[in-house]
Amino acid sequence: MSVYTCDIAVIGAGSGGIAAAVTAARHGLSVLLVEQADLIGGTAVRAGVHCWEMGAGGTGLPFDIYRRMNRLRGAVGIYSCGRHMSWYDPAREPYRFPGGERILDPGKRYVDTLQRHGAPGGQPTPEFVRRVWHGVPFEMEDYCSVLEEMLAETGRCEVVVGTGITDAMVQQGKIRSILLTNGSEVMATAYIDATADVCLCRVSGCVTLIGQDAQEAFGEPSAPERPNDNVNGVTLAYRVTRALASGVESLPTGIGHRCWWATHYPVASFNPYPRGDINVNMLPTMEGTEYLAMRSATAYQECRRRVLAHWHNLQSRYDEFRDFRMAWIAPSMGVRESYRTLCEHMLTEQDIRAGGGGRQYDDVIAIADHALDTHGRSTGRRLCSELEEPYGVPYRCLVPRGYRNLLVACRGAGFTSIAASSCRLSRTMMQLGQAAGTAAALARDHDVALPDVPPKELRRRLYRQYAQVDWPVSAELHAHLRDEGAP
Ligand SMILES: Cc1cc2nc3c(=O)[nH]c(=O)nc-3n(C[C@H](O)[C@H](O)[C@H](O)COP(=O)(O)OP(=O)(O)OC[C@H]3O[C@@H](n4cnc5c(N)ncnc54)[C@H](O)[C@@H]3O)c2cc1C
Repeated sequence: MSVYTCDIAVIGAGSGGIAAAVTAARHGLSVLLVEQADLIGGTAVRAGVHCWEMGAGGTGLPFDIYRRMNRLRGAVGIYSCGRHMSWYDPAREPYRFPGGERILDPGKRYVDTLQRHGAPGGQPTPEFVRRVWHGVPFEMEDYCSVLEEMLAETGRCEVVVGTGITDAMVQQGKIRSILLTNGSEVMATAYIDATADVCLCRVSGCVTLIGQDAQEAFGEPSAPERPNDNVNGVTLAYRVTRALASGVESLPTGIGHRCWWATHYPVASFNPYPRGDINVNMLPTMEGTEYLAMRSATAYQECRRRVLAHWHNLQSRYDEFRDFRMAWIAPSMGVRESYRTLCEHMLTEQDIRAGGGGRQYDDVIAIADHALDTHGRSTGRRLCSELEEPYGVPYRCLVPRGYRNLLVACRGAGFTSIAASSCRLSRTMMQLGQAAGTAAALARDHDVALPDVPPKELRRRLYRQYAQVDWPVSAELHAHLRDEGAP
């Protein structure tokens, strides 16, 4: 059996994991990055979530990635909203499909993508959305090559792909070693779980949660009275490209025209790729509870059938799709929510609604402002609540309760189910990863365990990396954001 020894083992190479690995290695730690899939990038790459939605906080490492992509022709763009699904009025709008459309907007800059909150009265009007909401779509191959370049550049990060974890040896709140599916053992000083589904936390015996938390658990006003298994819906994203000739692609045999919807036709969001294709993101392809009840391979096959039926239906009903053809179906499901870890602090609906721009706790390591936002009918009453100002994510949300050398830097960190419906965007996960990597370095420098990292110093170090830990954007940060890299 081979044994890897390193300062930090980061498990999962998605948004949070890459940020954690790059940051820890930049601080001089030796890093092992373990990824179960055969390529790095996580949901952004394998599930086709090729876009950073608008939002506060995406400055530090994400801006570095953006700048590098910006040097590659056609790798990255910025979008504005064209049509929005909530503005659909058949009597007045000159379009008919049930969805929203974003369009590339060369007039916008990265700094324009850093706000979602602030719609007057919580109601995003067309004027507000067109003026304020801008996201960052990218080409996945370029994104991957930039991530590989950043990892390699550190000279201290070994990446192992195609390998998951099977077990962990834990003693007195410390992980001593972990076992990989390739038969190797990993011995690290500290570990970062960035697997999204918190696989490392689960095999290490941390308390984890899944489904909606009851009101009495965290006192959240919008929580149900009793806990239940409901989670956000899942989406299988697909990509369409310009066709040489107009037409409707035929439906493979065995797939019904309507396939799974009865009366409720799924809406979809149509996002551009920088080089011109369109990403279709159904909201959702399958209810979260239905997904959890199936084996993942079965769910994927069922969602693939639904994608083909959805596309056929769009082309049959709306002429504007007839000039496109299906180019790609994501190889992985887009899962919005699964296990979460019980951490020293659980971010709640109250924390999010209180806003505070990062001022409400002294250990805030990231800010975010995405709406409280659930997808799918099985989550019960749909929660879609825009925020007045950004909120802060405390470092303690990364520290599993009772563990000394483990951090969580992914969507399964210390969030209640309601908080997770807001705190899950890709750039926010990168902020968590950047904070986790920085905290690991600080723990080494101060010779303390991860929960005892001094929060003031952590925030100072993050700020020096241009991570946004306060709102609004400071003058210094503004100046930094001006240099977008040569297109
Ligand atoms: C359909 C959909 C649309 C979305 N739209 C947007 C959007 O427009 N903009 C936006 O910013 N965000 C969006 N999000 C949210 C965002 O994409 C995700 O929440 C975010 O990417 C999660 O990042 P992560 O680091 O937690 O996990 P991931 O990026 O999923 O990374 C986890 C990694 O861990 C690996 N892994 C899992 N288990 C193991 C194991 N046992 N061993 C080793 N490796 C393992 C996985 O293979 C994966 O590579 C969307 C999400 C979905 C599902």
